[in-house]
This record gives sequence, C-alpha cells and structure tokens, in this order.
Amino acid sequence: MKYKRILLKLSGEALMGTRQYGIDPERLAEYANDIKTITDKGVEVAIVIGGGNIFRGLSGASKGMDRVQGDHMGMLATVINGLALQGALEDADIETRLQTAIKINEVAEPFIRRRAMRHLEKGRVVIFGGGTGNPYFTTDSAAVLRAIEIEADVILKGTRVDGIYNADPEKDASAIKFNSISFDEVLRKGLKVMDTTAFTLSQENKLPIIVFDMNKKGNLLKVVSGEEIGTVVNV
Ligand code: UDP
Repeated sequence: MKYKRILLKLSGEALMGTRQYGIDPERLAEYANDIKTITDKGVEVAIVIGGGNIFRGLSGASKGMDRVQGDHMGMLATVINGLALQGALEDADIETRLQTAIKINEVAEPFIRRRAMRHLEKGRVVIFGGGTGNPYFTTDSAAVLRAIEIEADVILKGTRVDGIYNADPEKDASAIKFNSISFDEVLRKGLKVMDTTAFTLSQENKLPIIVFDMNKKGNLLKVVSGEEIGTVVNV
C-alpha cells in the first residue's frame, strides 16, 4: 500500500445515495465494505464526515436563522452521520471509535489526539464528528486539521466526480481532468477543491489531497495502493 495512514473525507451528501435527504443504508454499507478492503490490508483509516445531507448552517442563516445556532445544528448533523457510519462499519466487522469535537459523552468519546492515534495504531477506524467544533468552519477544514494532527499521509476526498477538472464536468462536456496539479495552480486557475481555509491549511502543511470518485466500488483500494485515479493535489 502506498499510504499507511489516511484521512478520508466524506461529505454528508455522499451518504444520501440517490435520495434527496438523509442517509441511504445501502450506500453506507457499500462504503463500509470498501473501507474494509483497505483496513484488511493494514491501512490506518480516520474519517471526517460532513453533515450537508441533514443541515448546513449557511442555508439556515439564509432563511433568517442565527448563523452560530445553525452551525451548531450542522455540527450535530455530522455526529448523526458519524453514528450511522459507525454502525455500518461495525456491521462489516470493523472496530471503530467515534470522537467528537463537541462533547456528547454518553454518545461518543471527546476528540483526544493521542487517544485517536492509539486507536489507529490498534487498527480501529476513527470517525471524527462535530467538525472542528467551531461555527463558521466546514468539515473540509476539520478534515485537514485532523489529518495534520494525526500525521496522516494524505487526505482522500471521496466525491461523486472522479477528480478535478478545468470546468464543471456535470455542466461542460468538454471539461478536462487533471491527473495531478499543484496547490499554486489550483489557486491560480481558481479551481474549487475545498473551501479556501481548508485548502490553505493543507498547502501550508504540505499535505497532499486526492480527489476521487468514492461511488465506484474498489476505487478506495486503488487510490490507497497508489493507482493513478482521481486527481492528486501536491506541492
Ligand atoms: N460545521 C461547523 N463547523 C465545523 C464543521 C461543520 O459549524 O467545523 C457546520 C456548518 O454549519 C456546516 C455543517 O456543519 O454547514 C455541515 O458540514 P459541511 O457543510 O462541511 O458538510 P458537507 O458539505 O461535507 O456535507
């Protein structure tokens, strides 16, 4: 395997499958099976999960809701997704721990870096819920932050498109995919990989990001074994 310790970022929307809202148990089970193929090979896996399938603070604020309150709801949504993912992983016989950035002690462990790293060393998948624990941030920022903290080799951003294109491939049929691209080039070309805060944090810490299609079975294993699918963003 090319990578020993990875941080997988899954958006909340990824969990919806073909639904308009919420969680699709079949999609969850597919993800769990894909994750199992890499834990079986000894890869240490940490996951940051989004909440957009349930609630986003920004969309609440656009309808007049207090932004901070909305963001708290968004963070709780990520915990709901984290629990669902934990259940699916356990069904696939993977040992897991859920750690949250906001304390919900009856439900999950609080985020403790050393403990998280110990879990990973023991082969447990660690799911980080609650984002960064702060409003005005995203789970992409949480993914980069946690990846740096736990000394992950790479961030794998599982999406429904198979990489970074020079235009939106869902709207423009002539869009061309990059196999690899530098952080500087992404910024120069104004491409959207992650929000600026998350992207800059990754760039400053020289942490590579791989964007790939997580909905194709077997892709996760391919990425972790170093096959060139998706797009690698590097220094
Ligand atoms: N959120 C937050 N702080 C964080 C991470 C998330 O306040 O550090 C809130 C924010 O309201 C966000 C929501 O949680 O809209 C869900 O996260 P995100 O939008 O990143 O989820 P995704 O798009 O990955 O599903």
